[in-house]
Amino acid sequence: MSEAPDWMELEDRHGLGVYAKRPIRLVRGEGARVVDAEGREYIDCVTGVGVAAVGHAHPRVVEAIRDQAGRLVTAYELFYHEMRARFTAKLAALLPGDLDRFFLCNSGTEAVEGAIKFARLVTGRAGITAAMRGYHGKTMGALSATWEKSYRTPAEPLVPAIGHAPFNNIEKFTARIDEETAAVLVEPVQGEGGVRPADPSFLAAVETRCREVGALLILDEVQTGGGRTGKFLAAEHFGVTPDMVCLAKAVGGGLPLGVIACGARVKGIPPRFHTSTFGGNPLSCAAGLAALEVIEQEGLAERAAVLGARFRKQLTAADLPVVRGVRGLGLMIGLELKQKAGRYLAPLAERGVLALLAGNSVLRFLPPLVITESDLDRVADAVIEVLQ
Ligand code: PMP
Repeated sequence: MSEAPDWMELEDRHGLGVYAKRPIRLVRGEGARVVDAEGREYIDCVTGVGVAAVGHAHPRVVEAIRDQAGRLVTAYELFYHEMRARFTAKLAALLPGDLDRFFLCNSGTEAVEGAIKFARLVTGRAGITAAMRGYHGKTMGALSATWEKSYRTPAEPLVPAIGHAPFNNIEKFTARIDEETAAVLVEPVQGEGGVRPADPSFLAAVETRCREVGALLILDEVQTGGGRTGKFLAAEHFGVTPDMVCLAKAVGGGLPLGVIACGARVKGIPPRFHTSTFGGNPLSCAAGLAALEVIEQEGLAERAAVLGARFRKQLTAADLPVVRGVRGLGLMIGLELKQKAGRYLAPLAERGVLALLAGNSVLRFLPPLVITESDLDRVADAVIEVLQ
């Protein structure tokens, strides 16, 4: 019998090395748990950076994918398709305000790319103001709005007229919004930048300034959207009414699916200005529709609010000397440490918990919204044990 191939070695050989990989080979998952090739079980607080909101292998999502895969997986948007129609109608029903028309694509960065283009087209202006510490993806337009210098500098020259102002600094941020601004692009809770929620007064002031000068407000809810923060959109915590919202991760039920949700100000986009071969494909839409139904019917946003508050309380009460602060909203949780956080990932994995970083000093937890209380307690126990 031939020996099983060493997948890790093969991936290392044939990958470009752009991911800081951990030596874990995942083979399956169910709910909040994933299992590796050695049969070790982990509570997954990585979830593809928030993708597996409804948990792994949710029976309704599995069935939807199986069923659609056997019928039709491609139906370019030259044609109509029931799954696309039902996915967009369900999304419109779940979203606040007038966000009821959509461009469908395949990832978060693509949603941001399209939103930047739509804003420029609709306003006839070029300027985009994004936030320091913001993250919007790594294709050229989105990268130009992403803050982290090490991602940006080697790829220069970037897209012009996209600049940054300090997050949560009303005076400095609004001073950068004027009659040449097409749009402001911000995350309501900065994810990669360290799990930093916006101050409600900051987002309100940004919205007001956008209205004064006729700029559009784009919220990047790629990581926060779909129930993660305790509401379907994080925007609902802040009472702002965005003109566009970028979604991905949770809304595709695990398959690649990005969305630009557009309000009434986004209009007059001519045919063929923006298109996507895979965008709105029946398979992703079927998975996405099933995921949206699960999020709604299982009350996952409410669950995220309750469980997230409980988890943060446990960690705050532990009063760990190494922890500078516990931040987050719903089940988007960051622990800011007084030292580098990377060293804790392996000890957590040894205790059966997969966690993420958000910058150098923040440990981030994005568990499935279906996680049980007892599994979340196990995560808290492991974190407390490791950080003590
Ligand atoms: N925006 C935000 C807020 C994100 O968190 C991410 C991904 N972490 C992106 C955009 C980019 O998404 P993708 O990796 O699917 O391109």
